[in-house]
Formats: sequence, structure tokens, C-alpha cells
Amino acid sequence: LFLTFEGIDGSGKSTQARMLAERLDKDGFDVVATREPGGSPGAEEIRRLVLEGDPDRWSAETEILLFTAARRDHLERLIDPSLAAGRIVVCDRFADSTRMYQGLRGPGLRQIVDDLHELMIGREPDLTFIIDMDPATGHARAKGRQGSEERFEDFGTDLQARMRTGFLELAAAEPDRCVVVDGDRTPEAVAADVAGIALERLRG
Ligand code: C5P
Repeated sequence: LFLTFEGIDGSGKSTQARMLAERLDKDGFDVVATREPGGSPGAEEIRRLVLEGDPDRWSAETEILLFTAARRDHLERLIDPSLAAGRIVVCDRFADSTRMYQGLRGPGLRQIVDDLHELMIGREPDLTFIIDMDPATGHARAKGRQGSEERFEDFGTDLQARMRTGFLELAAAEPDRCVVVDGDRTPEAVAADVAGIALERLRG
């Protein structure tokens, strides 16, 4: 089973991905916890290329190509082999992040993300948790984080607000895959909901 977590910066999705992986591991499941951008040595190098240094270094188009290349490597090296071995893969971000973060930055970009995805990735998660959060709350949380790689300054709250809407629209369009979870609660309360939904899917 392939489970992913999505949401805007500061939504708490990384915490939730970690908590779910720990919970499933404790329950005796064979779990692989990973993240994007990154997740394999090559993809982590691409992550550094994009996220470190001058934020204007790459265009949205180039970022789409780089993140899709990173995803392809992650898929080949870690995700596909783990799923083939019957393991549960819990991934912090996946293609939906590229659909929103890069896809919403200009006209025609979302189509490029989707076309490249079909061509080079072709896999969707079995279940995607969209951790929903007001962008202002998320911003305050993300800013307070030490060593934050957050790119909020360049994106602005406007893009984060459009991404939130985008994630909710995605969830409405793909109700079998996506479940929206209210992220504006204690991590434990959110995690309890997430674990309940994941276990239901695992046992069903
Ligand atoms: O989720 P994480 O904190 O690891 O993401 C690191 C940074 O990369 C965040 O600031 C996020 O906004 C950015 N990002 C991006 N495009 C993606 C995924 C993440 O710009 N497709």
C-alpha cells in the first residue's frame, strides 16, 4: 500500500507522516517512511539543487523537470521495489505537491506536470492524506521552525491560499484516493484520525 501526505507548508504533514509510520510499525506492519522532494540519494541531490541557493535559479518549468526526475529516481530505487516486496510506503509529499507548488505558478503548467507524470511516473498513491490548514496559521508554524527550508518568502501567502484551494479541489475530484483531514488540532488528535483511516484501508 502506498500512502502519501500532502498540504501547504506548516500544515504538519511531515509530523503526521512520521507518526503514522511509527504507529503502523508498532502494529507490526512492514513500513518504509520516505519523503519528497528526495527519498533516494539521487533525488536528495536534486532536492538540494532546487531548494538551496538562489530561489530564482530555476523557472517553474525547470523545477517541474527536476522534481519529476527526482520522483522517477525515488520510484525506481525505493518506492516500486518496496511495494513489490509487499511493504507499506508512507511518503511525505508526492506528485500532488508538484501539481500544486509548480502547477499553480502559471498558465499551462499544471498540464505539463500531469503530462510528464503520465509519461515518466504513472503511479498514484492508494491513499493520500491532505492535511488542511489555514495558510496564515501554516505560515506562522513553518516560520518558527529551525532550519526551515520553507520557500514562503518567494511564494507568498497568495500562492499558499491558491494551493490550499487546489488541494481541496483535488480531494473533491478524487474522493477514493484523497481524504482531507483538519490539521488545525493537536498533532495527537490529527494522528488518531489518520491512523483510523489508514488501518481501515489496510484491513478492508
Ligand atoms: O515538505 P518540505 O518542507 O520538505 O519542502 C521543502 C520546501 O520545498 C518547502 O518550502 C516547499 O514549499 C518546497 N516545495 C516546492 N515544490 C514542491 C515541493 C516542495 O517548492 N513540489
